[in-house]
Amino acid sequence: MIEKIDHIGIAVKSIEKTSELLSNILGLKVAGEEIVEEQKVKVAFLPLGDSELELLESTSPEGPIARFIEKKGEGIQHIAFRVDNIEEILEKLKKEGVRLIDEKPRYGAGGAKIAFLHPKDTNGILVELCERDK
Ligand code: ZN
Repeated sequence: MIEKIDHIGIAVKSIEKTSELLSNILGLKVAGEEIVEEQKVKVAFLPLGDSELELLESTSPEGPIARFIEKKGEGIQHIAFRVDNIEEILEKLKKEGVRLIDEKPRYGAGGAKIAFLHPKDTNGILVELCERDK
């Protein structure tokens, strides 16, 4: 079951510059940062109510975030939905013929179990499913 929007992922060239801007104009604050080596990305978390913004800065010109910015520029990159049982939902989507970028969940920032759906099957929206320990 999908429970809520867990976070919105935003591709940026500079976490420092963007977080300063969001702090100045909206009062949002960075609560933590983490490097996810596997995805060649540095992540900053800006909690807001029950969800958060995730700023994503590539640590390498070859990383998926660097490639995204090259093609589409900075901006919203993905929407993450909190789910209660990621394996079950992936299984169900697979049966329905939805293409999955990750057939099996992997570990993302904050130790969450995550998996991406293929944007070709979600009308261009890059959807992340995200299960966290309660
Ligand atoms: Zn995410």
